Amino acid sequence: MPRPASLLRPLVHRLHAYTPGEQPKVKGLIKLNTNENPYPPSPKVLAAVRAAVDGRLRLYPNPSAEAVRDALARHHGCSPDQIIVGNGSDELLALAVRTFTEPVSEDAPGPVPSRSKVHFFSPSYSLYPVLADTHGAVPQPVPLKPDYSLPSVAELKRGKLWDFKAALTLVTTPNAPSGRGYPTAELDALCRAQKGVVVLDEAYVDFAEENAFELALRHPHVLVSRTFSKAYSLCFQRVGYFVGNVELIAGLHKMRDSYNVNGLGQIAAAATMQDLAYYRRNFARIKATREQLRRELTGLGWEVLPSQTNFLLTRPAQGTAEAWLAALRKRKLLVRWFSSPGLRDWLRITVGTEAEASALLRAVRAIQRAG
Ligand SMILES: *Cc1c(COP(=O)(O)O)cnc(C)c1O
Repeated sequence: MPRPASLLRPLVHRLHAYTPGEQPKVKGLIKLNTNENPYPPSPKVLAAVRAAVDGRLRLYPNPSAEAVRDALARHHGCSPDQIIVGNGSDELLALAVRTFTEPVSEDAPGPVPSRSKVHFFSPSYSLYPVLADTHGAVPQPVPLKPDYSLPSVAELKRGKLWDFKAALTLVTTPNAPSGRGYPTAELDALCRAQKGVVVLDEAYVDFAEENAFELALRHPHVLVSRTFSKAYSLCFQRVGYFVGNVELIAGLHKMRDSYNVNGLGQIAAAATMQDLAYYRRNFARIKATREQLRRELTGLGWEVLPSQTNFLLTRPAQGTAEAWLAALRKRKLLVRWFSSPGLRDWLRITVGTEAEASALLRAVRAIQRAG
């Protein structure tokens, strides 16, 4: 009998899978580790989902999430043909890798061809390299500047690490985990210089001052990625979407599963589009709590980067970030720590409700008093 491991493709054998943030079952734990929205979906969304739970669950859902695409097209002022909905934007990011990049052949050593390159900045969303690897494309991380701002096109040219012909470029904007926002003009300059497809991953854009949506309508090779997860309190339902050029979107549609977005997710997303005022109030609350938390942590000696998202990247006043992760957890506060060299001194803290932010500050004060 063959060893089961020998039945895996070598690529799968080598693969380092993505590590999602923990979803613990600890009672009373305040969860500030995965950038979920602390506020529930609107009552109208909950009612729409409840009303849909009946015998119709036996039926297949609409294959292309038509009602969601129609509502989004009206909202964004584009055509439904310019939109694809996915099982979370993660699915669409994976589809983009499969649709736009060529796997490298296992037995062709030498320089990586542009058509196999997936460019992204580091640090940014840690899923990108995994998606490239699962397809046999080649992740090409290029460092952001030390203050996490975007290198200019001239700097990228000088740095020599950047390939303007890379098949796919993924840009988290505003960025995670730094929280930094990038000016649309800088993104536009990057897009103009790039020959391959550029995906602007705007998962957190509702908490930012600017968005770069117009670039997806202006440039034929630029796609904007959005999600209902973070800002619209629907992580559980898995709904995200891409907007852009009709031919690129048609290519992605060809590659997706026939029923890629589950029916209750479609209903929840369509109902969300009918109650946007509810969500705008939540964005304002989260942004106010974020600024308050930033001031208070700074007052306690922490370094806190300015944020255009619903989280803060922070460096504790004293002690290692890893020790803080454990100390906070003991007090039932879960935050995110990344072990990678550029990030290991930092904690990423999701902005929760005002009460959750106060609980975090109480814990930080108590831990600092105890030394
Ligand atoms: C959370 C997140 C996503 C994924 O969102 P889903 O729609 O839930 O799959 C994509 N990009 C970034 C940068 C994220 O933080």
